[in-house]
Parts: sequence; structure tokens; C-alpha cells
Amino acid sequence: MSPNSMGTGSMDTDFFLSWLNGAAELIRLRRDHLTELDAAIGDADHGTNLDRGFAEVRQALAEWPPTSPEQVLLSAGNTLIRRVGGASGPLYGTAFRQMGKALEIPVTPAGFATAFEAGVRAVERLGKAAPGDKTMLDALAPASKALARAVQEGAQAREAFERAARAAEEGAKATIPLTARKGRASYLGERSIGHEDPGAASSALIMAALASAAV
Ligand code: ADP
Ligand code: MG
Repeated sequence: MSPNSMGTGSMDTDFFLSWLNGAAELIRLRRDHLTELDAAIGDADHGTNLDRGFAEVRQALAEWPPTSPEQVLLSAGNTLIRRVGGASGPLYGTAFRQMGKALEIPVTPAGFATAFEAGVRAVERLGKAAPGDKTMLDALAPASKALARAVQEGAQAREAFERAARAAEEGAKATIPLTARKGRASYLGERSIGHEDPGAASSALIMAALASAAV
């Protein structure tokens, strides 16, 4: 990110690169944890799936440097859709793509919040899931709400993203007592109770990377 861009409340291409590269790094560090969560209520591949996908995101961003925030998000989204096996690849990929398309330049915290919401809605449409179904939406939807509220209250980007990241983390933990109604974990019915949803956990990491990018 260029030195003064956060001070003026705008987010440039470098900011989005920091976000995606930071997310890739956090997912790499937490890969085994994510896979363990998926071992409990899925097929034990969420960490490895996402780590491979985000490593390729990082590689593509380095090889073909994007020149706009939209290009960063479209590149990441396309890579995730193409390269991640499992439900989470198309869902995350679609979220980043829709967010990219909805972004207005220059990107402000308010514009970011609106585009983020468009990304979350795309996940809802594609996965036909709603908050409470014990999926990534249980982290993403509260994060989107927290972000919108923070922006309405006049928060700067960093504070707004920190509030969104906290909401995502709380939302992920709040999946523990839920019964899964979508995805592979739903086959377990009530036996999914007592475990954190892996996709909600990875969403919380992606939001933590967002907050860290806004320094
Ligand atoms: P798979 O279940 O195909 O092995 P992953 O393990 O990569 O895919 O991802 C599993 C995660 O994907 C779940 O923990 C959940 O958060 C998310 N997920 C699965 N199905 C849906 C859906 N229909 N809507 C939203 N999220 C979903
Ligand atoms: Mg899985």
C-alpha cells in the first residue's frame, strides 16, 4: 500500500494485494487446524484445499501483477474457482469475483463495505444457504453487518476491518452448537453439533488478514 492511502481512507491495488497475500499466509499457517475441523464434520480436506488454492492465488498475483483492485479480486476469484476442489473453492471464488465487480474506484471504506456485501450475497445465492446453517456465511454475514455499521458510524478503514474481523471470529465460534444444514456436514445431522464449521473458521482468517492489511 502506498504510504498515505489509508490516511485518506482510500484503498489501492497494493492494499488488496496485501489482503490476499496475507490471507494466503494465515491459511498456510492454519492449514492443519482447518483440516482437523473438516475431519470432524466433513472429509478432512478444507485446510489442504484452501492452502493449495491460496498458494496459487499468490503465485498468479506475482506472475501477472494486477493494476487495479478489481483485477486483484478477479484474479483471486478465478484461481480459487479453477483450482480448489470442494465446495469452498467456487464459493470463495464467486465471493471475490462479485466483490471485484461491485467495487467502485477510488475504493473507500463505505464502497468496500457495499462491495463486500455483494460478495456475501453471491455466496448465499450460489450455496443456497443462510446464516444459521453452520457454513462460512455464519462468519461472513456478521462480518458484513459489522463492517456496514462501522462505516455508518464513521470508522476509519482499520477500525472498521477490525470490527468485521471480530464479528467473523465470533460468528465462527458460534457455529459450534449449531446443526449443519448445508454442505457435507449436513449429512451428519445432529452429530455435527459441538464442532466449529471449517469454512466459518477460514472466513475468520480471511477477515483477520483484511484487518492486518489496513496498517
Ligand atoms: P467440501 O465440503 O466439498 O469438502 P471444503 O471442505 O473445502 O469443501 O469446504 C467446506 C466448507 O464449505 C464448509 O465448512 C462450509 O463452511 C462451506 N460450505 C459448504 N456448503 C456450503 C453452502 N451450500 N453454502 C455456503 N457454504 C458452504
Ligand atoms: Mg471438505
